[in-house]
Amino acid sequence: MTETLNIKVTKATSSKLAGVDFDNLPFGKTFSDHMLTADYADGEWKNFEILPFGDIGLSPAISALHYGQAFFEGLKAYKHADGKISVFRPEKNAARFNKSAERLCMPALPEEFFIQSIAAIVDMDRNWVPTKENYTLYIRPFMFATDPYLGVAPSSTYKFMVLLGPTGPYFSKNLKVKIETEYTRASEGGFGFAKAAGNYGGSMLPAKKAMEQGFDQLIWTDAKTHEYVEEMGAANVMFVIDGKLVTPSTRDTILNGVTRESIIQLAKDFGMEVEERRVSVKEVLEAIANGACTDAFGAGTAATIAQVAEIVHEGKTYTLPNPSESVFAVKMRKALDDIKYGRVEDVKGWNF
Ligand code: PMP
Repeated sequence: MTETLNIKVTKATSSKLAGVDFDNLPFGKTFSDHMLTADYADGEWKNFEILPFGDIGLSPAISALHYGQAFFEGLKAYKHADGKISVFRPEKNAARFNKSAERLCMPALPEEFFIQSIAAIVDMDRNWVPTKENYTLYIRPFMFATDPYLGVAPSSTYKFMVLLGPTGPYFSKNLKVKIETEYTRASEGGFGFAKAAGNYGGSMLPAKKAMEQGFDQLIWTDAKTHEYVEEMGAANVMFVIDGKLVTPSTRDTILNGVTRESIIQLAKDFGMEVEERRVSVKEVLEAIANGACTDAFGAGTAATIAQVAEIVHEGKTYTLPNPSESVFAVKMRKALDDIKYGRVEDVKGWNF
């Protein structure tokens, strides 16, 4: 039986909504009026509360800050033409939330608590879901360790929180990407499959260096050989080669993306062959050079599909055919957006 959460609500005395420029919404900078918090202590989740967005007081000794017991999720709410608001496949994020928790030795959050928390906070700030096309309300659930204890040991207390922020399109152009052959994002036996905060902290220097070299993004390769493609920035990477959708199979170094999984299902519905397997750098570059690769893109909640224009490997540039004329990426982006924005019947039941 589903347990119904009792969520205490303290409303903001005034709304910041009128002061927000909805035509200019860089990702992650604007937050809605409210946030949700809950505490884990004595082996249970309690104190679910919606309150005005603001600073929280914490001990400087909390283990999240020192040892990185912290992880997050990312999903979005979409406004339909009839005013209805939906969230895309939140049960997938709820399940992945607990995979991250398990790997980081943190407590699971019952999936129904995750879903009910998101439903409650989005409902509270429903006026913050943008109406404009390609604009959404980004939902950021996260959990972190709160024991004020410097011993390297799992915390006994944790906080779960959810923040909301309206956001516009993530990437506005087709990308020039570098195949990263020096740094790695994740290694076998590690926690690349989790949305651990540390995975993103470790990716910043390589990403900054790539940007200084004139790239928009980088494609991560495996830690051992750098011969296999793994992910692109904070997104899964996919290719169309010889008319087939080809993408690295998920493993402990790869995040199991909701967008990736949805694209695979839709591609199969389109009657397309899908190959989830190891994908070598050599194969991709040869396929671009001989014209067999027609599409390369990152797939994730933030961008949905971020198309690649150029891939550079060890100084050599490989140019994809004109991405804006790509049949697959354009059709797939539309298919996904049509579902998310309620423009077609949700036959798969993906909208919550
Ligand atoms: N890989 C990484 C490393 C990510 O951070 C993300 C974003 N969550 C993805 C892939 C894409 O996952 P999703 O489609 O669930 O957003």
